[in-house]
Amino acid sequence: MAHTLDLSAKPSSSPVNITGLTREGLVEALIASGSVEPRKAKMRMQQVWRWIHHYGVTDFDLMTDIAKDQRALFKDHFTLARPEIVERQISRDGTRKYLIRMAPGIEVESVYIPDVGRAGALCVSSQVGCTLNCSFCHTGTQKLVRNLTAAEIVAQVQVARDDLGEWPSPKEDRRLSNIVFMGMGEPLYNLDNVADAIAIISDHEGIALSRRRITVSTSGVVPELPALGERTAAMLAISLHATNDDLRDVLVPLNKKYPIEQLMAGIRAYPGLSNARRVTFEYVMLKGVNDSPAEARELIRLLKGIPAKINLIPFNPWPGTDYQCSDWKTIEAFAAILNKAGYASPIRTPRGRDILAACGQLKSESEKKRASVVRREAKAAAEVAAETASEQDTGEAEDHLPYAHLAAGMIG
Ligand code: SAH
Ligand code: SF4
Repeated sequence: MAHTLDLSAKPSSSPVNITGLTREGLVEALIASGSVEPRKAKMRMQQVWRWIHHYGVTDFDLMTDIAKDQRALFKDHFTLARPEIVERQISRDGTRKYLIRMAPGIEVESVYIPDVGRAGALCVSSQVGCTLNCSFCHTGTQKLVRNLTAAEIVAQVQVARDDLGEWPSPKEDRRLSNIVFMGMGEPLYNLDNVADAIAIISDHEGIALSRRRITVSTSGVVPELPALGERTAAMLAISLHATNDDLRDVLVPLNKKYPIEQLMAGIRAYPGLSNARRVTFEYVMLKGVNDSPAEARELIRLLKGIPAKINLIPFNPWPGTDYQCSDWKTIEAFAAILNKAGYASPIRTPRGRDILAACGQLKSESEKKRASVVRREAKAAAEVAAETASEQDTGEAEDHLPYAHLAAGMIG
């Protein structure tokens, strides 16, 4: 049964952006536009494909092995334009954050984290907002605006590669080697577009990222797990966060639909699992909620027989949340129990703190501004009038402790 919400923006205006089309989709689009004869469509697709996805060009005139009049026809019908980068920040530790405007009111953050995975990982979003309302997640407080299209997902990778200077696709010494779907949204509720995007970024004659270096994180949409495995062969990450249904019902309300037992059965059946292809279990550390030694032992029991790694995520507080991050000692004690059972170094150091690179709980910029205005007002009432705007900004940085290190756990 298909669980994908079809909320993607319909391409309304001409010319059509073809950067999110799979090879098959591109052949169809070329033919449908009338710019290419059907018998030549496959050959043209191969030429165009290489220019877009291997060389990263955004201008048909750079496609020098295609005749001028043919390029002009392409330009009449199609565009390869990148979305606008509204903001780009680089952290002292090399983490890079991009705020990308896909369309009016559709803003997405993605975060590049160096020295993670083979070389560096990009945390991408699959939706703007989320339908799932996990009680500890900032994105969950924002309504779903819409699914991102495959082009918009691929664009996040293209933007990072533009910035890192990774065109044409380098064979060796890449700075961007891994992709994690841990930004905004639930990827399994946008599986068609996520699967197309993965097909594009893993294509050998293009960006050519290994599917084993692409990780999709889900809160547990059990019926879509087989399709994720079959269609993408991506690595799987599960946001578990609790070891019993009563608690998981509260933290991840989707658990009421697909409780832990069903979830575990779905994970065990995920195609291609082995010690070299482990499932990552994400577990957010919430003070006094899910962080006891008994829960650590229960976690080990639950994961028995599954090739697994565990990523303990220090909770990242946001304005208005009642949850707190577990004390460091408690996290260490929890980790020690897991270590003893053979799960190595599961706590990750936060990255990109100075630029609020909060991979995993991203909200749209407008929402963030609203939250910061609310907080600034409260702060102004409580604090001396002389407080400067820059100090307030520093206050915000402390409130949004980033956890781009999430991504590190997926692929370390
Ligand atoms: N929707 C998907 C992927 C995006 S969320 C999912 O839930 O898996 C990526 C990860 O960030 C998830 O493990 C999520 O539980 C975690 N997360 C969300 N908010 C968080 C917060 N405030 N602190 C720490 N981790 C958080
Ligand atoms: Fe959505 Fe994931 Fe946040 Fe839950 S944790 S609300 S599924 S983005």
